[in-house]
Amino acid sequence: MPLIVQKFGGSSVADSQKILAAARKAIRAQQEGNQVVMVVSAMGDTTDDLLELASQVNERPPAREMDMLLSTGEQVSVALMAMAVHSLGSKAISLTGGQIGIRTDSTHTKARIRSVSTDRMKKLLESGNIVIAAGFQGIDEDWNITTLGRGGSDTTAVALAAVLQADSCEIYTDVDGVYTTDPRVMPEARRMSRISYDEMLELASLGAGVMHNRAVEFGKKFNVPIHVRSSFTDVLGTMIVNEPEAPNVPVCGCAITKSEARITLVGVPDRPGSSLDIFSRLGKRAITVDMVVQNIGEDGKADISFTVPQDELRASLEAVQEAAHELGIERITHDDQVAKISVVGLGMAKQTGVADRMFRALAGAGVNIQMITTSEIKISVLVRRNEAQSALRAVHAAFELEREPAGAAKREQIVASSRPTAQNVVDVVQRLAGMDMEELFIDDISLDQSQARVTIRGVPDVPGIAAKVFEEVAAAKIFVDMIVQSYDGQEGQATLSFTVPKGKLSDAMTVAKKLASDFQCAGVSSSPDIAKLSVSGIGLRSHTGVAMRMFRSLSEAGINIGMINTSEVRVNVVVDGTHGEKGLASLQKAFADVLR
Ligand code: ADP
Ligand code: ASP
Ligand code: MG
Repeated sequence: MPLIVQKFGGSSVADSQKILAAARKAIRAQQEGNQVVMVVSAMGDTTDDLLELASQVNERPPAREMDMLLSTGEQVSVALMAMAVHSLGSKAISLTGGQIGIRTDSTHTKARIRSVSTDRMKKLLESGNIVIAAGFQGIDEDWNITTLGRGGSDTTAVALAAVLQADSCEIYTDVDGVYTTDPRVMPEARRMSRISYDEMLELASLGAGVMHNRAVEFGKKFNVPIHVRSSFTDVLGTMIVNEPEAPNVPVCGCAITKSEARITLVGVPDRPGSSLDIFSRLGKRAITVDMVVQNIGEDGKADISFTVPQDELRASLEAVQEAAHELGIERITHDDQVAKISVVGLGMAKQTGVADRMFRALAGAGVNIQMITTSEIKISVLVRRNEAQSALRAVHAAFELEREPAGAAKREQIVASSRPTAQNVVDVVQRLAGMDMEELFIDDISLDQSQARVTIRGVPDVPGIAAKVFEEVAAAKIFVDMIVQSYDGQEGQATLSFTVPKGKLSDAMTVAKKLASDFQCAGVSSSPDIAKLSVSGIGLRSHTGVAMRMFRSLSEAGINIGMINTSEVRVNVVVDGTHGEKGLASLQKAFADVLR
């Protein structure tokens, strides 16, 4: 018999009428001949209310007790949902994470799922019950209750769909699908018929709160097609699968992370181990760092800038102050009035003219770009928070995201063709054997020696310069791979570096030198011989330890890191060209235990 997992988010179970409506959807699916597992979130704003309550009794509540508290929200919902199903004449049993056997590690408030037992759920399904599972929670080895991080019910749903080899996983929410950007922020956003796992992963971790990023990791790892749709209507929504909505579209969506803060360390001794020292102190505090940009100065000192969530700024500053003391860093600047705007698309990996289009749109809106980082499928910029909204709108318009792309797949076909195949199921069973479900998954370590680097120092703090640089570079038919721009808040100047194919270095230098003189930048330098080392896998950003392991292994091999960029599926570092082979060998050794 086909099996469906249906997840209902907080706003979809916010009151008794909504709970009854959700129960009806599940009963209907059962009557259509499916076994049904429901995954339910806490009602409405319950989780926020519980957090607020906790903060009233303790400024820094113990994480274990926080989980004890937060998990009650979902326990209320599942019980009410089971009662609702009964009242409508069907059989249902509610289960907590612990009762299902969702085993996690012990990282309270951010726990990772290790395994899920299916025995109890299968027995209950076979005897005709709708199984109602509490989202967002599990238990650790010592039977302590854990939670999976905000928005984690999505992750419970996709994990259950994976272990039960469900035929579909439906995420019912208060929007009718995944849009090109948050439709509540921008009414002109367009609903997509389909989005690829990789694109959704990036968007989810760059601010598109519609899906928990770890749920998308599960989807990708275990081949679970995910259908995001409305709990209030029956229209088909958006499928998250392997393929993008349409081929060759450079950008499928954009996202905003409003609550960011920037930290810059000026005058970091440019030697192996400095980054490791800094980031391991942040890692120890479980702080998620993004937009890491390092630029090497003339005097053997580097500047390192990165962003952290605004509410982790205080803890982050504590961590970097420790490091500053230890390493002899000149000064630390920070800014908590910034926001990150990102564009994402599988198509940008294959075409030029994407970065300059984004930067031109920002310049047109009068927005100054403070920092830039890129990966194969995304470009992120840091801007002032009060300009973020107009920045997002300008970027959305520049890529015509409100228009359906040519060759877009049709919704009915996509939904119909997205069932997992028998081969998928075999693959998943093999993948699950002997491994924790959310364990680090690395599938490739590689070396690219085809690139060279150009750096423009002392770029003044005015809109339009990045646009001009990349327009001219694109006009010269040069394909740019990585772009990083760091920013020193105090002096209001940026350092912009990018990589180009070796054979194009002199053309790129001609462009850079001309623009540097037009815009009165401090200077241009280049390195003809760089090596890019990459580690690829799934969920590399949520596993913050990956970058750390790379830093450690390169530092032990005496190799200095020049540039860094990270995405969900890959971490790239640029090192001196003479260290390519040695770096590759040390990374292969460092990741030997998790390489699959
Ligand atoms: P739930 O409680 O059902 O889990 P969430 O609030 O977590 O719902 O997620 C749904 C919300 O995500 C929507 O109301 C919408 O405002 C927001 N959102 C952000 N980005 C997007 C996007 N790209 N597409 C659709 N919704 C988005
Ligand atoms: N109730 C939890 C939260 O609000 C989990 C979820 O809704 O997904 O974050
Ligand atoms: Mg959610």
